Amino acid sequence: MTELITSNEKQTAQAAKSIATQIAAGSFIALYGDLGAGKTAFTRGLADGLDIKEQITSPTFTLLKTYDSGVMPLYHFDMYRINSNEELDGIGFFDYAQSDGLCVVEWAERVKEDLPTDRFDIYIGYTENEDERTIKIIPRGVCEEAKL
Ligand code: ADP
Ligand code: MG
Repeated sequence: MTELITSNEKQTAQAAKSIATQIAAGSFIALYGDLGAGKTAFTRGLADGLDIKEQITSPTFTLLKTYDSGVMPLYHFDMYRINSNEELDGIGFFDYAQSDGLCVVEWAERVKEDLPTDRFDIYIGYTENEDERTIKIIPRGVCEEAKL
């Protein structure tokens, strides 16, 4: 497990950017953390690290946004409003999870049973200081062998 502390949004994005430049194609990142913790900010940093040129906006209402302009496709999910396993299947979640792109999932706790066993769990938490966040990175399955 790796734990970092960031002091502002830029540092969170920078940490994510660094991860994106090291991560294997086809990886899966599950993001956990309350509203406003920084899951979307983290995803922006990932996109930056993949050289994605498009602006990253939260897929809260669409559940999924895909970005193809970078070194690998980015599939950005937000599970806040997911209601059923059928819906998850319907947006192609299980196919994207097995693809060669990078999947990143906000509100991963809402689909816990459906996450792939090989993944990075990343917990973003608040501290007593307003702009400070803790970022815990826990590799699961074969990802335990990855050096991030
Ligand atoms: P989430 O997707 O988890 O709901 P967002 O990324 O949309 O959260 O928003 C995070 C908010 O917290 C932004 O307004 C951002 O500026 C602010 N913020 C303050 N400090 C940090 C930090 N250290 N890391 C990330 N975001 C931070
Ligand atoms: Mg968000």
